Amino acid sequence: MKCSICKNKVNETFLKKIIGTYIKDKKGKRLPICSKCQTKFNNDKEKMIAEIK
Ligand SMILES: [Zn+2]
Repeated sequence: MKCSICKNKVNETFLKKIIGTYIKDKKGKRLPICSKCQTKFNNDKEKMIAEIK
């Protein structure tokens, strides 16, 4: 699984939970975001969505 912003690999826990978060785009598609980008954008979903090309 790759981060939707930086395209780096998103790590997962052994329970298959991602280290990061999911955001939903306008179509309701779940997009994985890595913890680095989550921190970089202060967990602000609007800002994170704006970064996704
Ligand atoms: Zn990222």
